[in-house]
Amino acid sequence: MAGQFYRVTCPDCENEQTLYGKAASDVACAVCGHVLARPTGGKAVFEGEVTETITRQNHA
Ligand SMILES: [Zn+2]
Repeated sequence: MAGQFYRVTCPDCENEQTLYGKAASDVACAVCGHVLARPTGGKAVFEGEVTETITRQNHA
């Protein structure tokens, strides 16, 4: 199963954070607490600018 990760830049403090594409709960910026990702049932909605998409293959 492959998971999709995104690098998102916080709109408030420009901290870059790697977020999972299927977050189950709100993900806040580690620096200023601005909510960067909100779950919508399936895919998360990102509040900041997505600068990179990372696909991770998991061969478990
Ligand atoms: Zn921030």
